[in-house]
Amino acid sequence: MFKVWIDAGHGGKDPGAVANGIQEKDIVLNVSIGIKNRLEADYEKVQVLLSRSTDVFLELRDRTAKANAAGADILVSIHCNAGGGKGGFESFRYTSASENSIKLQDKLHKAIMGKLGGIDRGQKAQNLHMVRESKMPAVLTENLFVDVVDDADRLKQASVIDAIIDGHVQGIAAYLGLVQKTKEDKPLSQRDINVPSKWAEVTWEEVTANGYFDGTRPGAMITREETAIVTNRLRKNFLKLIAGINGNVADMDERLKKIEKEN
Ligand SMILES: [Zn+2]
Repeated sequence: MFKVWIDAGHGGKDPGAVANGIQEKDIVLNVSIGIKNRLEADYEKVQVLLSRSTDVFLELRDRTAKANAAGADILVSIHCNAGGGKGGFESFRYTSASENSIKLQDKLHKAIMGKLGGIDRGQKAQNLHMVRESKMPAVLTENLFVDVVDDADRLKQASVIDAIIDGHVQGIAAYLGLVQKTKEDKPLSQRDINVPSKWAEVTWEEVTANGYFDGTRPGAMITREETAIVTNRLRKNFLKLIAGINGNVADMDERLKKIEKEN
């Protein structure tokens, strides 16, 4: 079981950067909780521990002390930026970072940029407490600028927060070599029954277009009655095929019954 430490920057009396109606502490908390939920739901053998899961203040030394004591395999500290020209994304490792910290930064940075797009400010090194005092490979991400209007507008969109979460999840999974859970492993209670599984998408669309299913609730359990309806649609189509009937005919049912008796 891998232990991933996610550190949401700031909190409580320390809002972090504040501008354009955004507080950094709120964005990074949402992102951190999103990373935990998605990593644990989608990947095998990974546990995500959080510096904070609510709006509380924590000293920097307490954050790294807890992560070190927990024996986390990696640490990612989540922040939003301020005070920099045109905005964009950048990431930080320690100035004399380990090989693994450099590798973690590279995987994270590329995965996040891939999802987020926009300005890439680069993979940087700086003497920051969170990446210096963490005993495990550690990276700090600066996810857009709250004081750049374009970036702030993006941070207000759920799809952008989602992209930031997704990028972190993919980067962490790539670094640790995590195995994705197959959809079948997910209990029915944890999946959205209205969304078809990735592997079933094409078939579901085809079978719906051909009128065997009505297209609703792809992930729901099937009853004997529903099986009967689908079987009956199949049976009618076979009979039509045998009779050489194309399209809808007014007396279809009668004709099919006749064919059925004859065969
Ligand atoms: Zn910050």
